Amino acid sequence: MHELGILSAMLKSIEKIMEEENLHRVEKIVLQVGELSGVIPDYLEKCFPAAIYQTNFTDTQLEIEVIEGIVRCNNCQEQFNGYRHDLICPVCGKQDLEALSGRELLIKEILAG
Ligand SMILES: [Zn+2]
Repeated sequence: MHELGILSAMLKSIEKIMEEENLHRVEKIVLQVGELSGVIPDYLEKCFPAAIYQTNFTDTQLEIEVIEGIVRCNNCQEQFNGYRHDLICPVCGKQDLEALSGRELLIKEILAG
């Protein structure tokens, strides 16, 4: 599961921000995860306890905002949720798609406690 590695990397960059900003405790971390980012929000949540084990984040909450994976078909210009349609255009059946949103994997907010 690569979600654990992603979380560990994110926590490391948050630790760096905490040092720079002189923060001692983080109450909540808000992540934005796109449906087309390749990361599964449920897995992130499941991995979180393991990721924070023996770190400075043991009383930190994780909140995940899921961004819809909207794509446009280059063949017929239809816009639809590519995640729900398995990246196949529901109108013409092509897979020549361009992602308009949903590739995000970002730390949106860090709430200091
Ligand atoms: Zn199409």
